[in-house]
Amino acid sequence: MAKIIKAPRGTQDITGAESYKWQFVENIVISTSKLYGFKEMRTPTFEDMSLFKRSVGDTTDVVQKEMYQVQAEKGKDLYGLKPEGTAGAVRAVIEKGLLNEALPLKICYLTPCFRHERPQAGRLREFHQFGIEMFGPQSPSADVEVISTAKNIFDMIGLKNIELYINSIGCPVCRANYHKALTEFFRTRQEDLCGTCQERLDKNPMRILDCKSPVCSEISKDAPVILDYLCDECKEHFEGVKTRLDKLGIEYKVNPTIVRGLDYYTKTVFEFVSNDLGAQSTVCGGGRYDGLVEQMGGNKTPALGFGMGIERLLLVMEAQGIEIPKPIDCELYIASMGENANIKACELTNKLREEGFYVECDLMNRSVKAQMKYANKINAKTCIVLGDSELESKKAKLKVMATGEETEIDFENDLSQVLHDMNVNEIANAFSSELGADALNTLINFKG
Ligand code: ATP
Ligand code: MG
Repeated sequence: MAKIIKAPRGTQDITGAESYKWQFVENIVISTSKLYGFKEMRTPTFEDMSLFKRSVGDTTDVVQKEMYQVQAEKGKDLYGLKPEGTAGAVRAVIEKGLLNEALPLKICYLTPCFRHERPQAGRLREFHQFGIEMFGPQSPSADVEVISTAKNIFDMIGLKNIELYINSIGCPVCRANYHKALTEFFRTRQEDLCGTCQERLDKNPMRILDCKSPVCSEISKDAPVILDYLCDECKEHFEGVKTRLDKLGIEYKVNPTIVRGLDYYTKTVFEFVSNDLGAQSTVCGGGRYDGLVEQMGGNKTPALGFGMGIERLLLVMEAQGIEIPKPIDCELYIASMGENANIKACELTNKLREEGFYVECDLMNRSVKAQMKYANKINAKTCIVLGDSELESKKAKLKVMATGEETEIDFENDLSQVLHDMNVNEIANAFSSELGADALNTLINFKG
């Protein structure tokens, strides 16, 4: 036998047993963001390598250590598989001239991301992010709107114990003094820092605060904090954010150690963290990046957003026992005996599907016994068996699989009414079940 090829390390195949959970989460994130005015945008999976160097930053772990780079032809352009969603979104927004239209511009996306990291639970090499980005507003109200979008998504899903940490990392004005203080501090411990951080010391000392090496993070604990260096404007902005969060009743903790792993952030940064995730605890991270658009060649435009890891979100949901509505089971299996009955089964199946019912018939030329076994395996709710005598009388017995109860029906005319009545009963039952009311409402109200 030929050798079986395995999926690359750190990637996942999402089969039917899991994909409905993804669809549930994807529907909630997109439909919730719609209430805030975010429109979906899709950008390429790969971008010019220089885009990531300039935006994410060429001294960040992401660019220095974790990028997948591809070159289609020797000597030609180098591309990077996107490690996050913001860089491509900003590139597209500038290239398409969207910033010349009405501001604020609000976009959102679901995208695969690629980072060459050591795979573990909640840390993959291909993972998926839901992200939102807002362009134009300077007001702290925008920061709070972005944070509240994430919060509302978690509430809709029914997540508990998810903590919000916020910080301000200032603007280039306050950053200059802070960098000086940081560099002085780290210089006293220079020889203990990891090799990468020794190099970062002069170029970008704030990156050391985000280094994952245990020695560097230990040293960082005593480092000066940015909040003590904020300029008046940044201080006022941060106060504005906190006041509004208080007013909206969104709980948070100020955590001065949050600096985020990407270079483009300014002012507000935030993370939503869950205790149910072990080491990989951040489900969503984001903040302001007021300088990025200009840095990428656009007109100076304040902007902000977040990235939310779908895999981590699903892990927290699972840890918290959040129930996700299962996809509907096959509503009717039409078994058949002989060629003519199979043709009739085929015809009825097609007609009922056109009416919106999930129906199956035999495609494998199996015996009736084997067909019934299959109907059981796929959890078909009802079945009928067609043979020559049924074709002649146009009557068949409809069997409810769970109870074994049988009723004779006119299969040409009664089936769709029977299936319809069955659905009505089920929706009524679902309403009285344990399914979270919020989740159910989202599904029912989902406007496509
Ligand atoms: P971490 O500190 O856990 O490495 P990060 O700061 O690198 O996270 P971001 O760049 O802010 O992560 O990405 C936003 C979100 O994407 C994270 O909060 C997380 O939920 C998710 N994420 C990031 N890297 C991975 C990964 N390798 N596998 C799965 N999800 C990830
Ligand atoms: Mg990371």
